[in-house]
Amino acid sequence: MTVLIAGGGIGGLTMALTCHQIGVPCVVYETVRELRPLGVGINLQPNAVRELTDLGLGDKLATVGVEAKEWALVGRNGNDIWSEPRGTLAGYRWPQYSVHRGRLQMLLYEAVLSRLGPDSVVTGHALASYENTDRGVTIALDRRLGSTVTKTGSLLIAADGVRSAARAQMYPTEGEPVWGGSVLWRGTSLGKPIRTGASFTLVGSLDQRFVHYPITAAGPESGKQVQNWIAELTFDASGGWGRSDWNRKVDAEEFLPAFEDWDFGWLDVPGLIRAADVVFEYPMVDRDPVDHWVDGNVGLLGDAAHVMYPVGSNGASQAIVDARVLGAKLLEHGVGSEALLAYQNHLLEDVNSLVLRNRGAGPVAILGLVEQRCGGVFDDIEDVIPQPEIEEFMQQYKAAAGFAVETLNNAPPTIQPGSLV
Ligand SMILES: Cc1cc2nc3c(=O)[nH]c(=O)nc-3n(C[C@H](O)[C@H](O)[C@H](O)COP(=O)(O)OP(=O)(O)OC[C@H]3O[C@@H](n4cnc5c(N)ncnc54)[C@H](O)[C@@H]3O)c2cc1C
Repeated sequence: MTVLIAGGGIGGLTMALTCHQIGVPCVVYETVRELRPLGVGINLQPNAVRELTDLGLGDKLATVGVEAKEWALVGRNGNDIWSEPRGTLAGYRWPQYSVHRGRLQMLLYEAVLSRLGPDSVVTGHALASYENTDRGVTIALDRRLGSTVTKTGSLLIAADGVRSAARAQMYPTEGEPVWGGSVLWRGTSLGKPIRTGASFTLVGSLDQRFVHYPITAAGPESGKQVQNWIAELTFDASGGWGRSDWNRKVDAEEFLPAFEDWDFGWLDVPGLIRAADVVFEYPMVDRDPVDHWVDGNVGLLGDAAHVMYPVGSNGASQAIVDARVLGAKLLEHGVGSEALLAYQNHLLEDVNSLVLRNRGAGPVAILGLVEQRCGGVFDDIEDVIPQPEIEEFMQQYKAAAGFAVETLNNAPPTIQPGSLV
């Protein structure tokens, strides 16, 4: 029987491609009427790139993403705290990509349509509720004009994002995602290459920071790249913030004054902010970890299971890895609740601790140490925090997030090529 997937985002589409690879029929139900390339930049860590490569998408990914060369942490006064090579330069067998989220989603969507056929993604259908049955699951889907349809399948994989309807049914008292006090303003601007031309740069302190990375190669004539940036400020969370929505547009003047003097020569923060056509606001939210993602024949995946702060650039990567691990469990246990439970047992504890680690600022927590030790202003970082201390911290984060170099390089494929359920 067919596997029903709710949500045609990064996780849901990867799940559909994985089901197809292992010979499991599936259909994706997506709430929006038309999938469009929404969002701005995201990073795909080598563990996720490995999975997409195993799905035969490595070459296409290389055409939409920029291979990240460097990850750099910079103090409030523009001086380097730490920089390290990334992707293949760091010894991984797979690159790390900085990519426009919408372009990645469209790449996955086109692959699903061409491999599974045009009826495999049903848009304009929002999961409303589910009911476990003896033979599988029945779901109710709301359609645009107010009608509801029901569908039956062997499993429901709910990849319906931060406001998952399936999660709301599993955890009826949970309510809205939790806002910790930070607000992100996100945009893209055309600008000249910065540092290596493929650097992820994070500047500032725990309370005020700016992230930048390019998501296109430099234009052959202009020499300019599309620079993705995120400006972030922290407020008192007790008053709450408005609704979180990835697509809320705001005026840059709302936060620009706080960054007005952040021109370090090599990085002109106010210049980049001013050059953006559109700025999106997103209060940084997550959810408290939960002790199960499975209810009978229903399993949560991606943000529906474990939305996390984007401080470690691993929300999309984890959604992709989830889909692949679930595929491996379907191969091992057959299409049923046992596979869902095995997927949950494999991932839940580690991913829950990653959610909490990211709530504690993830790799960016180093900025807190610098702040504590010297108030954030220094000439030579060695006087404040020795480099081996940072290196150890970074290794621990990568191990927790599933992309420690040696472990990943030596791991067998999550799904052996040619395996079928
Ligand atoms: C429009 C949009 C823009 C984003 N932009 C960014 C960004 O710029 N930077 C960033 O770091 N992250 C962004 N994200 C979040 C990021 O994509 C996810 O954190 C990550 O990729 C995990 O993927 P996911 O599949 O779990 O969730 P998502 O990629 O969010 O996908 C969830 C999908 O489920 C659909 N959906 C929601 N409710 C239902 C329902 N009831 N029934 C059926 N379908 C439903 C949504 O429309 C969406 O397509 C964005 C998400 C969205 C939806």
